Amino acid sequence: MLRSESLRVDEIRKDFPILQREVHGKRLVYLDNAATTQRPKAVIDATVEYYSQHNANPHRGVHQLSLEATEAFEGARSKVASFINASTEETIFTRGATESLNLVRYGWGNSHVKTGDLIVLTMMEHHSNIVPWQLLAKQTGARIEFVGLTKEGKLDEDHFERLMGQSPSIVAFTHCSNVLGTINDAARLSARAKRAGAITVVDGAQSVPHMPTDVRAMGCDFLAFSGHKMLGPTGIGILYGRRAILEEMEPFQSGGDMIKQVHTTGATWNDLPYKFEAGTQDSAGAVGLGAAVDYLNSIGMKRVRDHEMALTAYALEQMSKFPGITVYGPMNAKDKGGVVSFNMGDIHPHDMASLLDEEGVAIRSGHHCAQPLMELLDVPAMSRASFYIYNSFDDIDALMQALSKARNVFCL
Ligand code: PMP
Repeated sequence: MLRSESLRVDEIRKDFPILQREVHGKRLVYLDNAATTQRPKAVIDATVEYYSQHNANPHRGVHQLSLEATEAFEGARSKVASFINASTEETIFTRGATESLNLVRYGWGNSHVKTGDLIVLTMMEHHSNIVPWQLLAKQTGARIEFVGLTKEGKLDEDHFERLMGQSPSIVAFTHCSNVLGTINDAARLSARAKRAGAITVVDGAQSVPHMPTDVRAMGCDFLAFSGHKMLGPTGIGILYGRRAILEEMEPFQSGGDMIKQVHTTGATWNDLPYKFEAGTQDSAGAVGLGAAVDYLNSIGMKRVRDHEMALTAYALEQMSKFPGITVYGPMNAKDKGGVVSFNMGDIHPHDMASLLDEEGVAIRSGHHCAQPLMELLDVPAMSRASFYIYNSFDDIDALMQALSKARNVFCL
């Protein structure tokens, strides 16, 4: 297959200080991007600059630094909002996708879900998009159904359709599986779930960093994602929520900044999005995320997606030629994000990851926070290689060479 990179990977790599280092005396081949990505110097510098020059508590003071900190924090919100085609009122800072999903569970779920209600999830969800709903179901007496998967690792559309016939109150699904890589048609699923009367919660942790995102076109009620999976700092993430729903929703956490007035008899809530941002926020993290958005925009999200698709197609081709490897999920790169999960013979994925690490190749092994999916596929664990803008075809060659070495070590 043609090894044509649509990005200048050699130039991009120069922007990432960590990619200049070696691991065990070998070039670092970082293929664990679905867990967390690396940060370009622009993101590191933006947080250092914020702390060195502008740090104060946003929204709190009238002194110069507080005004500068507010401007930096709100400027970052504007960048993220336009990145996903949302308004700033609908763009809430959280600690990450997990907290965003919990915000919906508490803010919407607590006051709307009743005994006997149906919550629809899928068998390819990350624990972050399962456990909050299980707790909500336990608390309210709601029930949960999981949409099954086809042999290829796509959603079982007939099953989804049957469940929509039962008028669910919540339909929560991942836009892109962190294990199978499967990309779900979020716009179509959201439209169908809405016709069934449900609110739609999309887990965008593995999609927003990797492809163009437009929440209006997607038509979902909520979209959750994390900064650290898109070149940004850890501890910062986003919940997009449709304005009308956020307006009528109860706060999640409570305290400073989320109120309009507090009296001994009670309190009223601040305007959106502040109603959902209690306490001092991670403003440096937000600024870093804004810089990450600038960096991604300077490349263009369509080019990011095209690049990852080319790498994934190449990896799938190489792996399908490799004896003894089982790849999980769709085998067509168009249907999946830059995630390739696999097993080789009886080699335990942890042993595989350790062996690859000796070659400088960083991959993830384990259940990938998707134990129901592991049970469905009847495997205890998997190895996973996942790609981003600084990965090249050479990185995949390095992975394949390391896999050949592993096969020899284990005498397969
Ligand atoms: N959903 C998916 C699909 C994920 O891959 C992850 C992270 N592995 C999460 C949710 C949770 O993200 P975070 O840990 O950043 O909150």
